[in-house]
This record gives sequence, structure tokens and C-alpha cells, in this order.
Amino acid sequence: MDRYCVFGNPIAHSKSPEIHAAFAAQTGQQLTYEKILAPLDGFAAAVQDFIAAGGKGANVTVPFKLEACKVAQALTVRAQAAGAVNTLHFSEQGIIGDNTDGAGLVADIVANAGVAITGKRVLLLGAGGAARGVVLPILEHRPAQLVIANRTVATAQALVEQFAALGGAGVVSACGFADAQGVFDIVINATSASLNADLPPVPASVFGPGTLALDMMYAKEPTIFMQFAENHGALVRDGLGMLVEQAAEAFAVWRGVHPQTAELLHAMRHRP
Ligand code: NDP
Repeated sequence: MDRYCVFGNPIAHSKSPEIHAAFAAQTGQQLTYEKILAPLDGFAAAVQDFIAAGGKGANVTVPFKLEACKVAQALTVRAQAAGAVNTLHFSEQGIIGDNTDGAGLVADIVANAGVAITGKRVLLLGAGGAARGVVLPILEHRPAQLVIANRTVATAQALVEQFAALGGAGVVSACGFADAQGVFDIVINATSASLNADLPPVPASVFGPGTLALDMMYAKEPTIFMQFAENHGALVRDGLGMLVEQAAEAFAVWRGVHPQTAELLHAMRHRP
């Protein structure tokens, strides 16, 4: 059977094996998918060992997404734009690095939440790895405006400059959290603040009754960001849909078939 895995450190918490097992069963693909705890100083060696053992592809999670760019011998356009790799494909052409996080987020917003991005005002909170990975897929849907707000404004400004030539000119701008002006149609929390039960200090006025507020983090209980957004009238969503959709996209990269996600997402969301 073809072997796949997810590399991370830590990795015990990963839901990816369960997700890919469900996709394999659904599509009738014969494969195995395991978790591999790579040593912090041994990611590249762990990848080579897995290839030598017959591995066909791998997902990459914290803290190896940047290092995976270097391990890859070629990068897809979306991985280059993201500056990070979450999917490795071991092909006859060598190790191909891809990034499916942004496509996963956009699929969750457009297909699962049923919210169009085209023509909308979008506020992206954060300018780290996760934020950078979603800028190009969002721009491909031609929003009216994409404002990137970050604690360190210079990092957001650097993203604006990077994406100006990739469809972002006149559409993307940067600011600090407090300077986000007016109501947005979609607000995405791509900061890691939720991991510490913290809230990026955006004005409550960015949320309106029709706003979709999505936190990339997922947990059993709604995050503080989700609670804050809901209290100010927004519809809220966590990052579980993004997780399942980025996995579906990776599965399609490896196997050439895109699994259905609705049933699995529903089952994972409503598990006691
Ligand atoms: P990074 O460390 O690369 O970036 C962190 C970002 O959060 C930076 O913009 C940083 O600002 C900002 N930040 C950190 N702490 C605070 C705070 N207390 N208040 C305001 N801003 C803060 O992290 P990632 O981009 O890799 O990850 C971000 C989040 O996305 C994580 O919660 C992660 O779990 C989630 N994620 C979810 C995925 C999914 O499939 N659902 C996939 C990938 C990520 P500054 O620049 O000023 O330091």
C-alpha cells in the first residue's frame, strides 16, 4: 500500500490520520497514513528516511513548514507565494513542495459556509505563516478589498508589497488592529492569539450582522475571538473546516481524486 504521513513536533494531537483514512475509504484508494514525530533538528533526515521506506507523500505541520520549502526540489506557485510548504509529493520529478492551507480556507468559506469572496471587503488579522498562505487564494477570488491588520504593521506592509504584483495592487492594504475601519464582510483571524486565549484588539465595529468571522484555530469550545465576533452580530466559524479542506486538497494532489468533505466535517463537528 502507498504510504503517507504527517511530520510535526509535537504531533500526537494531529487529526490528519483520521481525516485521510476517511478520504481513502470514501474514494476506494489503498493507502496508509501515519503520524511521524520528527526531531526538531532532524526534519530533512526524517523525510529522506520516509522516502527510502517507500513514502509517496507527506503533510508538514508546526514547526517544519518553512524547512519543508528547503527540502523540496521544486515549489508550486502557491507554495512559493506562501513561503511555506504543508504538502510534499514524492514524484518521479523529485520532491515537490505545495501549500494547500489557503485553498482549504477559501473552500471552507465559499463552499462550506456559502459566503462568496468576490467583490467583498475582507479583513485578515495576522501576517505570519498562516496569513501569508491565504493571501493568494483570497486574491484569486477578486475581493473588493483585502486589509491585512497585524500587531507588527511592518510585517503586514511587507505582505502588501509581496502581493502587489500577484493581483493585489490597489486591493491589498496594511494597518494596525486599531486602525481597521468600517464593517467587513469577512474577518479571518490568522493570528496565534487564540492559542493563548487572547484577542487581537480590533474595533467591534468591523463586525456587522452579515459578517462571517472565521478563526483559523479550532477547539472544543468557541475561541475568545469567536465569542467577541458573535457578541457583535457576526456569524462565526472555527478552523476545523479549513483543516479538513486543506487535507482534501492534499489528497487530490497525491491521488488525483478530490474527496467529499461535508459528511466527515459534520461527523467531526458533532462528535461528543
Ligand atoms: P505565526 O507564528 O507564523 O504568526 C503568528 C501571528 O499572530 C503573527 O501575525 C503575530 O503578530 C500574531 N500574534 C501572535 N500573538 C498575538 C497576540 N497576542 N495578539 C495579536 N497578534 C498576535 O503563526 P501561524 O501563522 O503559523 O499560525 C497562526 C494560527 O493559525 C495558529 O492559531 C494556527 O493554529 C492556525 N492555523 C490553522 C490551520 C488550520 O488548518 N485550521 C492551518 C495553519 C495555521 P506579530 O507579527 O506582531 O508577531
